[in-house]
Amino acid sequence: MWFLRINMADRSHEFTPAPEKYKNLAGRALTSNLIADEVPPLSHPLGPNNKLFFCPGIMTGTTAPTSARISVGGKSPLTGGIKEANAGTSWAINIAKLRIKALIVEGQPEEKDKFWGILIHWDAENEKPALEWFDATKYIGQDVYDIYPKIYKEFEDRRISVCSIGTASEFGYGNSGVVFNDMAKRPSRYAGRGGLGAVMGSKRLKFIIMDDTGSPGVEIKDKELFDVGRRKLVNALREHPITKPKGALNTYGTAVLVNILNEAGGLPTRNFSSGRFEDAAKIAGEAIFEGNKKRLGKEVYNHACSPGCIIRCSNTWYKEDKTEHVSCLEYESNWAFGANCCINDLDTIAELIKLCNGYGLDTIETGVSIGVAMEAGVLPFGDGPGAIELVHKMGKGEPMGRILGSGTGQAGKVLGVTRVPAVKNQGMPAYEPRAVKGIGVTYATSTMGADHTAGYTICPEILGVSAELDPLSDEGKAALSQAFQATTAFIDSSGHCLFIAFAILDIPSGFEGFVEEANAILGTDWTADDVVNYGAEVLKVERKFNEAAGLGKADDRLPEFMLTEPLPPHNVVFGISDEALDSVFEDL
Ligand code: SF4
Repeated sequence: MWFLRINMADRSHEFTPAPEKYKNLAGRALTSNLIADEVPPLSHPLGPNNKLFFCPGIMTGTTAPTSARISVGGKSPLTGGIKEANAGTSWAINIAKLRIKALIVEGQPEEKDKFWGILIHWDAENEKPALEWFDATKYIGQDVYDIYPKIYKEFEDRRISVCSIGTASEFGYGNSGVVFNDMAKRPSRYAGRGGLGAVMGSKRLKFIIMDDTGSPGVEIKDKELFDVGRRKLVNALREHPITKPKGALNTYGTAVLVNILNEAGGLPTRNFSSGRFEDAAKIAGEAIFEGNKKRLGKEVYNHACSPGCIIRCSNTWYKEDKTEHVSCLEYESNWAFGANCCINDLDTIAELIKLCNGYGLDTIETGVSIGVAMEAGVLPFGDGPGAIELVHKMGKGEPMGRILGSGTGQAGKVLGVTRVPAVKNQGMPAYEPRAVKGIGVTYATSTMGADHTAGYTICPEILGVSAELDPLSDEGKAALSQAFQATTAFIDSSGHCLFIAFAILDIPSGFEGFVEEANAILGTDWTADDVVNYGAEVLKVERKFNEAAGLGKADDRLPEFMLTEPLPPHNVVFGISDEALDSVFEDL
């Protein structure tokens, strides 16, 4: 296994054997440990001392189902703390098969107006990966949808996967992601949150191209055990109503949650003023499915974002003329522009998502920032064309666009808004913390800023997965969030998509298989408790880095208006005590 270090200051690189101390770390566990070990906590996120890390998960590159995740990590320009964001893509499989355990991008070139690309491939003669540089300056300032076909054409003699950034990253926005290709070569799979695209942009690195042709693939220590574990997990995913073929995710996509959250009074609406959106049904997963059926004259089930996914939750929205508008309309993206900005038209929402993908913006942060701009009176709620114009301003680097592109927290300050739904400056995703208390604890305490994926307590609080808990109750929610945050940190390290959680939390043999897969690959003999402890250790490392970077308990709080302003329809505030919030890390 290799560590690949790239120094952008002099465009040098070095492959070295992966250090023994990191042997069982992968994915988020490895990005977070490397940040803690190598990035000065007080360094500027866009300065030469920050680094950008790409680490595939433990299972990535194997035949484990739904396991093609790549973790991207660095110090976040948005939160000022540690950041890991992950995406599902063939690129993740390629880097794992090339046996590159960590790709580390360091330094910055003095020449700021040139951007670079790198191609990484297998060198059969020397039996190790190799790297080539190319000048990517001609690709800057362009829509990512335009440059992807060009770069595939440029490397048409190879079988490549592509990682890149858009103009948002070239401008250095706190709201900018790192994009990877999906299975149809679309630039649609984002490690979106926290501004890691801007870190890549600050290093003037435009492309990382992977070609794993001829590579040896991932080493599995115990193939028999791996097959046993893999089969158990496949069976659990095929059986669970949320993850099975033609189940909830495969039929309606993640946007199946729109109606569910609306019903629960937890769908943040009108910049977090209500938990119900009167037009929820118009933008829900069911409306996407029926709308496509009407336009295409047939039922369309969802597809996989990356090879080996058997859940297949990624949808596509089609135009009236039957051509593709965008893939995909995730629940959070759909909500951010839909209920949050009171836009009730799927064509407008699809256009907003497509623009974000093209400019390299995180859809959640963009929608939440625009909701704040609507609150400030920059444009009225429900103004779809106005929202489209704002996204263009962001993508083109115009003054208002730069304000919004710096993220929800900063935009709220500049625009004089007191109701700013952000924690550690990161905009809140699609679940109202006053109506779903456990997710509020996760938003407040996560090392990542407001992030639903960091500890998805929606499982027991809304979906009845693993247990059925009252979302409005405060009881036990700190411990619940803590358990979910620790388990998630391991799933994010495993390379599996977080959506396997529905099946492994409900079906014990699925969880067993998941742990067996890891043991088979690494040669460990971990139990279920061990993997949760592994996740807890990752959280501790992240927390320590954040403290050294200046983020303490006072940053583990929800915005004041959520503690005082009752949320319809349940008319509840967020009342979980500061002591309970602090216990998440004190008792870890
Ligand atoms: S479940 Fe959805 S997001 Fe996860 S890997 Fe599969 S298609 Fe991608």
